[in-house]
Amino acid sequence: MGFSTDAIHAGQRPDPSTGAIIVPIFQTSTYVQDGLGSHKGYEYARTQNPTRGALEANVAALEGGSHGLCFGSGLAAISTILHLVRAGEHVVASNNMYGGTYRLMEKVLRDHGLRFDYVNTSDLEAVERAFRPETRLLFVETPTNPMMLVSDLRALASLASRRGILTAVDNTFMTPFFQRPLELGADIVVHSSTKYLNGHSDMVGGVIVTRRDDLAERLRFLQNAVGAVPGPFDCWLVLRGTKTLALRMERHDRNAREIAAFLVRHPKARRVYYPGLADHPGHELMKRQCSGFGGMISFDVGSLAGATAVLGSTRLFSLAESLGGVESLISHPATMTHASVPAEDRLKMGLTDGLVRISVGVEDVGDLVADLDEALGHV
Ligand SMILES: *Cc1c(COP(=O)(O)O)cnc(C)c1O
Repeated sequence: MGFSTDAIHAGQRPDPSTGAIIVPIFQTSTYVQDGLGSHKGYEYARTQNPTRGALEANVAALEGGSHGLCFGSGLAAISTILHLVRAGEHVVASNNMYGGTYRLMEKVLRDHGLRFDYVNTSDLEAVERAFRPETRLLFVETPTNPMMLVSDLRALASLASRRGILTAVDNTFMTPFFQRPLELGADIVVHSSTKYLNGHSDMVGGVIVTRRDDLAERLRFLQNAVGAVPGPFDCWLVLRGTKTLALRMERHDRNAREIAAFLVRHPKARRVYYPGLADHPGHELMKRQCSGFGGMISFDVGSLAGATAVLGSTRLFSLAESLGGVESLISHPATMTHASVPAEDRLKMGLTDGLVRISVGVEDVGDLVADLDEALGHV
């Protein structure tokens, strides 16, 4: 089936007891069993929930995978993936990924004996140099947040698999509508469903998808054993969200292309980071591995004062963390999402105090451009 058909139907059948076309919210903690050792496949709601199961099947289909697993947040999903790694083993990760993932690795799991190295995963040789005999996992975000560096997923997955290293890709920014890492050879895809999958800024969640039965079995065990599962209402909201994922992503992408072109022409935006721009270093690679460029743009206005002026004067772009909702958001990575990254590491990757990140929503693009134009006038 095509993507939009799967988005609307995969994992979802009319409810057998009523015919309800929408999967019900199974708001229950347990299930009555017919007799000892005899039940309908549901025992306890941390382990199985039909609403969650529908979402797991839905996102698995969209990513071209065969197993989906939902979690209470994107970080809960990432943390569960990192439970595949044992003390003494080593992880190579993208060096300007989501700040919370970096914090989990550095401030939590390093103390548990896991080893981490952060490299620019757009540089295949740097990734190869970082691999060690004890490397278990390559964790990649592409494009990265907020510098929009693009990594070659097919090449990375092949480098890793030759050494028996797992490749996990955080696909939150692109969504399966534009990029399907499993089809490029990755073993695991992970999402913060808080973002585009849900798309309406009204819940927090995470999803893992894989094609590998062995990994699915271990991750399913961890999902239950670690216990970071989502509630059924949040799963239901994401199921509602994925139905319009294709429509929303097309519009996010179209609006972002127009806004990026506007920013490039604007004298106050000194640098614009958007992989849809022809002079972006990852542009050709994005055209090969993705079918669109997404709705995230970063631009540098040169100083903290400039960034403060822009952030303080937009009206449609709301100042907030997060991304991927229908409404446009604006944020300041250096003091918000990436505040936990040391200042010198931030500067090394170009994440200056003048950098502004926008999540382009699905409003009328003329209104969004006018809002940014007005705000840039204050720089
Ligand atoms: C938001 C985000 C996360 C973390 O997800 P939560 O749902 O906030 O826990 C991980 N990766 C990326 C790329 C994100 O944008």
